[in-house]
Amino acid sequence: MDEVFDVAVIGAGLAGIVAARDLSKNGQKVVLLEARSRLGGRTYMDHGCGDILELGGGYVHWTQPHIWCELQRHGISVNPPMEEGMNYWLADGTVHTGSSEDFYKTALPLLERLFADSRDRFPMPFDPTAIDNTGIEKESIEDRINSLNISSYERDVLEGVLSGVVHSYKDHGIAQLLHAVATYFGNFGAFFETAGTWSIQGGTKRLIDAIMAETTAKLRLSTPVSSITDEGSRVIMRTRHGEEVHARKTIVALPLNTIGDVQITPKLPNMAQLMIAKKKPNHGCIFAPAGKYPLNAARTERYFDGDTLVLCMCSDDASIRCEDRLGVQAALRKFIPSIEVVDFAYHSWVGDEFSQGGWMMNRPGSFTTGAVELRRPHGNIHFAGGDISASEPGSIEGALSSGAQAARDISIKLNKQML
Ligand SMILES: Cc1cc2nc3c(=O)[nH]c(=O)nc-3n(C[C@H](O)[C@H](O)[C@H](O)COP(=O)(O)OP(=O)(O)OC[C@H]3O[C@@H](n4cnc5c(N)ncnc54)[C@H](O)[C@@H]3O)c2cc1C
Repeated sequence: MDEVFDVAVIGAGLAGIVAARDLSKNGQKVVLLEARSRLGGRTYMDHGCGDILELGGGYVHWTQPHIWCELQRHGISVNPPMEEGMNYWLADGTVHTGSSEDFYKTALPLLERLFADSRDRFPMPFDPTAIDNTGIEKESIEDRINSLNISSYERDVLEGVLSGVVHSYKDHGIAQLLHAVATYFGNFGAFFETAGTWSIQGGTKRLIDAIMAETTAKLRLSTPVSSITDEGSRVIMRTRHGEEVHARKTIVALPLNTIGDVQITPKLPNMAQLMIAKKKPNHGCIFAPAGKYPLNAARTERYFDGDTLVLCMCSDDASIRCEDRLGVQAALRKFIPSIEVVDFAYHSWVGDEFSQGGWMMNRPGSFTTGAVELRRPHGNIHFAGGDISASEPGSIEGALSSGAQAARDISIKLNKQML
């Protein structure tokens, strides 16, 4: 193997794609190594229900600087959300129905209490380490909810409204959510709007195709990397197929839960290793406390051919028979007894070897420790991705901003070496 690339980017999700584009536009010779036979990672469009659907990340917002900049650059707009109809929420073992106002009359004051200190904890959200947050490092979402001293009905409502982003109150730390709410001026509703309402016109694939059209990086699909060795003057990537790829620098843009499958030499610092080894927890408008019912969040997405497309989130992969129409129908009938499921499509992100989970939700402690460590360069190896991003972790915005930052840091270093 004689060819030496300036940079090898491992993982062609949005973080890797943007890093490869930025570096190649800056004149670097780049190779993009992707395990799957497709681009996009946890953004994924596929045929289903007689249409093409987003089965992974899809909601974006004009308040998110990197995604909005990309969309503007490529002349792509966003689809407005549907008008809100009836809300269903499971609390105290009963399904309640009402308007959005009815639901939020209870939910809002609870959310305000839950996130009261968000801006004090993260006064400069672009720098989550700006102040010492050891006080909340070990605090789980469950600890925080327990401290509110609320009734069981209120608890179900609060856990229900959080279930669109949280899969486990016990295993997720409060820090990432406080940071997300602080990013949106201390307002959970504003954060929630960015996380789940506006989608990309033409879908995520349209954006990915537009970014890829700008890159000169050499794309290698179906190339899972099994080891990365930094030898000082170069980095050697070995693939599962026994090939070697050589580069001066590497960006590891992989989902946190898959990094442990790649042998990295020299060893990473302890905090980073610990975060990789522990992985992020996976247990996989309806609001139900995550873990108590098969579906924990669902919303009407669109109407077509007289039917309604409902998007559902399932926090525990094992609790629902996703591959079976009647299993999906039974889960939805917990909320709406007369509902008839005529067709369905799904993707199990937890069962997917190259993601091993959904969006990032940090364990207690990792957002303020391991993630900070992983963002630092380790010799010639840099990490990027929505899972470790300093801004809006767990999102498309986080992936883009982290990929762009890693590319910028490496470009600066390579340019200096050339002087
Ligand atoms: C169901 C779901 C809904 C979501 N909803 C939203 C939403 O509405 N809005 C939003 O902003 N975000 C959402 N997200 C989160 C968002 O999709 C992710 O944060 C973002 O796409 C992560 O991008 P990434 O590039 O960091 O990682 P990924 O997209 O996971 O890309 C990593 C790439 O690495 C590849 N890879 C893995 N192992 C190897 C290996 N050994 N060698 C080579 N390649 C490898 C993978 O195949 C993948 O292509 C959602 C995620 C999911 C799963």
